[in-house]
Amino acid sequence: MTYLDYQATTPLASEAREAMLPWLAGPEALGFANPHSPHRPGRAAAAAVELARDQVAALLPPGGRVVFTGSATEALNLAILGRKPRKISVSTIEHAAVIDTARASGAEVHTLEVGSSGLVAANAAIPAGTDLVAVMQVNNEIGTIQPVAALAEAAHAAGALFLCDAVQGAGKLAAPEGADLIALSAHKLYGPKGIGALWIRDGVELAPLIHGGGQEGGLRSGTLSPALCAGFGAAAKLAAARMAADNAHVVPLWDRARALFAGWTLNGSAEARWHGNLNLRKDGLDVARLMSDLRDLAFSAGSACASGSGRTSHVLRAIGLTDSAAKGSIRIGFGRYTILGELEDACARIVAAAAAQGV
Ligand code: PLP
Repeated sequence: MTYLDYQATTPLASEAREAMLPWLAGPEALGFANPHSPHRPGRAAAAAVELARDQVAALLPPGGRVVFTGSATEALNLAILGRKPRKISVSTIEHAAVIDTARASGAEVHTLEVGSSGLVAANAAIPAGTDLVAVMQVNNEIGTIQPVAALAEAAHAAGALFLCDAVQGAGKLAAPEGADLIALSAHKLYGPKGIGALWIRDGVELAPLIHGGGQEGGLRSGTLSPALCAGFGAAAKLAAARMAADNAHVVPLWDRARALFAGWTLNGSAEARWHGNLNLRKDGLDVARLMSDLRDLAFSAGSACASGSGRTSHVLRAIGLTDSAAKGSIRIGFGRYTILGELEDACARIVAAAAAQGV
């Protein structure tokens, strides 16, 4: 099996797994203690949580704090619903965790369009009265890198706060500049599933969504998992140390894979892009058939979040693709642990299987 779905989730780094193990130990090692208990094993677990918080914070700007959540989806819900916005502007290519939460918030929702390259214009107009603007750092379907620093400035000029979904960029790119709220997910940066974080700039007020024991400064009640926190922290530390090396690893993979798909059309900008994302289309391609012909390749038809829903990807529609062009698109995602040879073999097999369809 060749895994080429790094936008859906990344493999757990062995360093992250190692950091988790002491907190998954049995009764003799006391690693199971509640990090909110005041006794010694509880304090040891709390210390592991705080170390992890610092490691995650090191990926983020100074002048804010990290609140652990169960996922980036929860972090984005906390950021949006916790602000109780009246008017919110979101890009048309945001993840459902932003778009659906904005709609559910009861706020008036305004959309920021993207062009065919999959980029929001850096000088996009923010309507008067907007109090929250949300634009992601890197799109999960087509990998495009948004001009978030300029958009944060525009949001502030309009009197709004800026929320950045940095799920696909965190640990790969420098932290988004100028944001007031930033959402992250451990499992997209080689950490465990089941934990995310919201970074909150100092002075930004939020109302909690989850009430109870008052953990996470009252913003997110519930007992934290020291194992998940430690895994997230170790993954963040590793990502910070390896950022340049991980970038240097994916660029030649992208160049080679792109060359193997001669005659296919790239979805989204080739330059303003995370190069671990290759989203391509071919007219007339039957993607369901392609995937069933190549069951030992784990790649995606559009976004993993939307696939299976039967709906055409809202991102591919937003960049101007017709329904049939969007349905003839595939996403190949690779990263730190992808080996050039296995990627080359996979791409060659996809190209051959598509050719066998006569497209
Ligand atoms: N935002 C983006 C851009 C994503 O790609 C995803 C996951 O696919 C999410 C948010 C949600 O992250 P999580 O799985 O941690 O809820």
